Amino acid sequence: MRLLMAGSPGAGKGTHGRRLGADLGIPHIATGDLLREHVASDTPIGRAAKAYVDRGDYVPDDVMMAIIKDRLSQPDAQKGFILDGYPRTDAQATELDKLLAEQGHAVDAVVLIEVPTEEIVRRLSGRRMCPECQRNYHMDDDPPRDNESCDHDGTKLVTRSDDEPDTVRHRLRVYAERTADLLDHYDNGIVRRVDGTASVDEVTKRIDEALGI
Ligand code: ADP
Repeated sequence: MRLLMAGSPGAGKGTHGRRLGADLGIPHIATGDLLREHVASDTPIGRAAKAYVDRGDYVPDDVMMAIIKDRLSQPDAQKGFILDGYPRTDAQATELDKLLAEQGHAVDAVVLIEVPTEEIVRRLSGRRMCPECQRNYHMDDDPPRDNESCDHDGTKLVTRSDDEPDTVRHRLRVYAERTADLLDHYDNGIVRRVDGTASVDEVTKRIDEALGI
């Protein structure tokens, strides 16, 4: 299955993409995570991308396309994948179609998680992330057991540099301007709309139902 997770920043693409990947036995590939790994390892891509990510702007398409082409060519992505955070522009969507068509494939479904803006701002301002395993927590909704560190590996949690309120507002504007209409690129028949304002388990149920799994 070749799935795209769509929706605004903070809609829950990462949480649900990760769950779906584990359930379906295919990799969850989040471009934000890939970029943060590049930045943390100080690679040339990381150095080129950091300023854009910190401002909440999109990284240029050619950089993103190179990253995604490389990641989708890895052995674990051959039987399917869940893409989270890609594509975000028309050029990226066209490039992905081309890449998949070359291998005789296409996007099977787009899961759109819908959440109102006020709720998004609340979610992102309480978000903490484990810099080691990339798991997300929310200080009110889903706090870590000891308040400071990751339940999974004990690493001290951080606030993402782009989760500061002004940057969040900027990211939401960029999303509205450049990505919200991207769904028009896909045949309506493969788009699965899911109301994301419920508990994580409830939204998981809705997504599974919408995908018929
Ligand atoms: P969110 O979906 O909450 O914005 P992500 O972790 O998916 O968070 O992405 C963080 C940042 O990484 C984005 O704000 C952007 O700077 C960059 N980024 C991720 N994916 C893309 C993409 N496909 N095109 C351009 N920039 C991207």
